[in-house]
Amino acid sequence: MKPVNSVLSSYGTTIFETMSRLSQAHGAVNLGQGFPEGLEPADVVARAAEAVAAGPNQYPSMMGTPDLRQAIAAHDRRFYGLDLDWPGEVMVTSGATEALAACLFGLIEPGDEVVLIEPLYDSYLPIIRRAGGVPRLVRVAPPHWTLPRDELAAAFSGRTKLLLLNTPMNPAGKVFDADDLAFIAGLLERWDAYAVCDEVYEHLVYDGRRHIPLITLPGMRERCLKIGSAGKIFSLTGWKVGWVIACPALLQPVAKAHQYLTFTTPPNLQAAVAHGLGKDDGYYDGLTAMLGARRDRLAAGLRRVGFATLATAGSYFLSADFRPLGFTGDDDAFCRHITERAGVTAIPVSAFYQGGEVNHFARFCFAKTDAAIDEAVARLERFFRGEPLTPPSASGCG
Ligand code: PMP
Ligand code: GLN
Repeated sequence: MKPVNSVLSSYGTTIFETMSRLSQAHGAVNLGQGFPEGLEPADVVARAAEAVAAGPNQYPSMMGTPDLRQAIAAHDRRFYGLDLDWPGEVMVTSGATEALAACLFGLIEPGDEVVLIEPLYDSYLPIIRRAGGVPRLVRVAPPHWTLPRDELAAAFSGRTKLLLLNTPMNPAGKVFDADDLAFIAGLLERWDAYAVCDEVYEHLVYDGRRHIPLITLPGMRERCLKIGSAGKIFSLTGWKVGWVIACPALLQPVAKAHQYLTFTTPPNLQAAVAHGLGKDDGYYDGLTAMLGARRDRLAAGLRRVGFATLATAGSYFLSADFRPLGFTGDDDAFCRHITERAGVTAIPVSAFYQGGEVNHFARFCFAKTDAAIDEAVARLERFFRGEPLTPPSASGCG
C-alpha cells in the first residue's frame, strides 16, 4: 500500500473521543468531553424542528442564510459594538472546528510561521501542519496561566503569518484581559501579522468579568478573524453551527477554503440559531449565572474529595491537581484510573501540551446537571475514602 498523508496519520484518536468511549464502557459520569447537559433552550430546539418540517431543506448559500448572517452581525453589535457589513464580513460554517480549518487553510502559505499559546485545543496543530505552517509555541501554565510576554514577543518575527488565540481558553479557563490583549495587538502591528481568534466560549465568562474580542482593539479590525459557535451559546454542541467574522480582504480567502471543506451548513439549524441569537439579555446572563453556579458546585465538591482546584474565569472547564490525593502516576493514568475504578471521567491536561511538566492536572467539565455533578463527587468521595463502590450504571449522567 502507498503511504497515506504523513501529517494526519501521525496523530491518534482525539482525547475527547477516547475518554468518552472509555467513559461509556465503564458506565462513568462523563465530566470529560466538553458538552453541556440540561441547558438546551426549548424554543431554539422547537424552531429547528419546525424548520425541518417546513423546509427549505436544500443547500443554502455557501456564506450562510441571510437571516443567520444578519443575526450574527446584530449579536456582535449588541455585545461588542462591532459594526459589521454582513454580506461581506460574516460567514457561517459547520461548527467552529470547520471555521478554524477554513481560516488556517485560507491564510497559511507553506513555510509561514504560526504563533500559538499552549494549552492548545486539539485541532489547531494538525491543521496548521497540514497547511504547511510552522508552529511557534509559547505556553501559559497552571496555577496562574500568566502570559509570558517576553517569550511571546520572541516567538514573533518577519516570518509570522498569524497568531491563533483562544480566549476564554480551553482548558485553562483563562480570560485574556485588556492589558494582555493590548500587548498582543502591539505584536501583530509590529510584525504585520493576523490573528485567528477562537472565541467559542465568549458568553461563558464568570464573576462579572468581561470577554474582550481582540478585533475590537484599535487597529485590529483589519487583522483579526473572530470565530464563534452556536454549540456553546445554546448548549447544542452536536449541531455544529459556527461562524467567522472578518474584514472582506480576510474573509474572502477563508471562504475559498470553506467552499471546498463543507460548502454549507443545514438551513434548519441556521434558522434556529438566527432565532436564538435574538434572545434577550436575560438569556445570556442566565446562561452565565447557571454555569457559574455549576462551576462553584463542582469546585466545592472536588475540594471536599481532596483535590486542589484551580480558579477558572471562563469556559466549561476547571482543572484540579490530584497529587494531594496521593496518586503518584501521571494525569493520563489518573483519568483512566478514576474512569475505570471510580466511575467518573475527566481529561488529562497534558493532552493540550506538546510534552513538558504539566502532567498532574485533570480537567473536569462543569456544564452538567447538578445531579451529574453531585453523583460524580459522591463517587469520587467514596472511592478515595476506600469505601466499596456500587457498580457504576449507565444512567442519565453519562
Ligand atoms: N475551539 C475550542 C477552544 C473548543 O473547546 C471547541 C470545542 N467545542 C471548538 C473550538 C469547536 O467548536 P465546534 O463544536 O463549534 O466545532
Ligand atoms: N471542545 C470539547 C472539549 O474540549 C470537545 C470537542 C470534541 O470532542 N471535538 O472537550
